[in-house]
Amino acid sequence: MPDYDVIVMGAGHNALITAAYAAKAGLRVGVFERRHIVGGAVSTEELVPGYRFDYGGSAHILIRLTPIVQELELSRHGLHYLEVDPMFHCSDGETPWFIHRDAGRTIRELEEKFPGQGEAYRRFLDDWTPFARSVADLFMSAPGPLDLGKMVVSSGKGKDWAEQLPRILRPYGDVAKEYFSDERVRAPLTWMAAQSGPPPSDPLSAPFLLWHPLYHQGGVARPKGGSGGLTRALKRAIEAEGGEVFTDAPVQDILVKGGKVQGVRLANGEVHTARAVVSGTHVLTTADALPQEHVPASARQVRVGNGFGMILRLALSGQVKYRHHTEPDSRVGVGLLVKNERQIMQGYGEYLAGEPTTDPPLVAMSFSAVDDSLAPPGGEVLWLWAQYYPYELASGSWETRTAEARENILRAFEHYAPGTRDMIVGELVQTPQWLHDHLGLHRGNVMHLEMSFDQMFSFRPWMKASGYKWPGVSGLYLTGASTHPGGGIMGASGRNAARVLVGDLTRRRWK
Ligand SMILES: Cc1cc2nc3c(=O)[nH]c(=O)nc-3n(C[C@H](O)[C@H](O)[C@H](O)COP(=O)(O)OP(=O)(O)OC[C@H]3O[C@@H](n4cnc5c(N)ncnc54)[C@H](O)[C@@H]3O)c2cc1C
Repeated sequence: MPDYDVIVMGAGHNALITAAYAAKAGLRVGVFERRHIVGGAVSTEELVPGYRFDYGGSAHILIRLTPIVQELELSRHGLHYLEVDPMFHCSDGETPWFIHRDAGRTIRELEEKFPGQGEAYRRFLDDWTPFARSVADLFMSAPGPLDLGKMVVSSGKGKDWAEQLPRILRPYGDVAKEYFSDERVRAPLTWMAAQSGPPPSDPLSAPFLLWHPLYHQGGVARPKGGSGGLTRALKRAIEAEGGEVFTDAPVQDILVKGGKVQGVRLANGEVHTARAVVSGTHVLTTADALPQEHVPASARQVRVGNGFGMILRLALSGQVKYRHHTEPDSRVGVGLLVKNERQIMQGYGEYLAGEPTTDPPLVAMSFSAVDDSLAPPGGEVLWLWAQYYPYELASGSWETRTAEARENILRAFEHYAPGTRDMIVGELVQTPQWLHDHLGLHRGNVMHLEMSFDQMFSFRPWMKASGYKWPGVSGLYLTGASTHPGGGIMGASGRNAARVLVGDLTRRRWK
């Protein structure tokens, strides 16, 4: 008898979700993770005494639109979500405004501050909420060849089809311009859409903006104790069902015999056998672990891109003080700090030329404002995500260019909150190189693969592997950001993969 029914390679949040559903279905599960902690890009540690830093994703948005937390009873296993409301504070440095969970309040405040823009926001939500809901539904099941068509059809729900349809095919920067005449409102919304990677000028990228209405439905949240609260709870959920989770246990080889998966060999030489193996790592890591005769050319042709963001994580001795923002709301909401649209495009232009951005737009997060366990009394954690940064540089290396990129991020933030640098007592600088080396995010892409239309739905990671199964190797399954619906803290891929895996292994229908 094999050691396990299911071996899971990697303990990113999607892989843990697949493992938890499999364990709950009565399967014997063993998870093997390369790092010293679980969670991958959803993990947290006390990196500066008294200050807890997330290593990857921090704003939990998409997972709140799924039933995963309830189905796996994660609150019973220690997950406690704290609401972040206002969800976003938007600013060019002079005129801040807030996006509250309550759409009505957001509209009223916008209308007061920027006459006409509140009404534009209302129209935007009215026009795109049904579409956004349909896309969320498509994300919660294995992709099919008709999904793109379904998404297109849903754009016309209850609206003038001929008006709406062309919009989803456009660049999101253009669609934002069609709705919002004031750049101070438009630029932060465009900047939020840019978080998925594609720039505002990419055709077919509008869904990244048109998804926005769902923020008002699921909200923005933080696990108490840091992002890793989610993955720690998942680990406990797996163990409560008899599963085993091993850290510092890198998988070196996925073992295959006669076209059927046999198990894995760890870097220390140990062999563990299983009826099925699920890889939740980057798809190129999976490909590297397989006998090369089982790796089709398509697996090597996936577009990973050239990185796109970096993050400066700071431990501060005092709280952030914004020049023009209302305290404490500005410290609570995710800061969408962007001077204008040109700043995004200029950053993207420098990136295309292989250079780190000199004056980056920022996403500022100081979640110690909602969670006092992240910093000592009076202190603050401040995380500054910035774009755009190439993994492969036109000149120099990340070893020689990190200091300059760090300084430019800090300088950009001082436009909003001068004096912040004087409060720094500790820090972690995560360049695209750092993300590649430490989190296994190839070439620093936090979404694993580019989130462009040619790699979404049944094209992710490539067509023949889009059903969460590796083609040509029976018993080898896939999950994670390399698969549909892509990157971000959502867990949909983990749940979708579990549905396929558990169905195959137990022959029971998914309830
Ligand atoms: C800095 C940063 C900020 C982000 N901000 C946000 C945000 O605010 N909101 C949001 O929604 N998303 C955000 N994201 C994106 C999101 O966190 C990721 O897309 C998502 O977490 C990826 O999850 P995953 O399940 O694909 O697995 P990953 O997190 O990629 O995990 C893969 C795991 O596999 C392990 N592994 C690799 N090789 C092996 C091996 N040989 N053997 C065993 N294990 C192995 C890795 O160590 C890792 O633990 C951010 C990401 C980063 C890095």
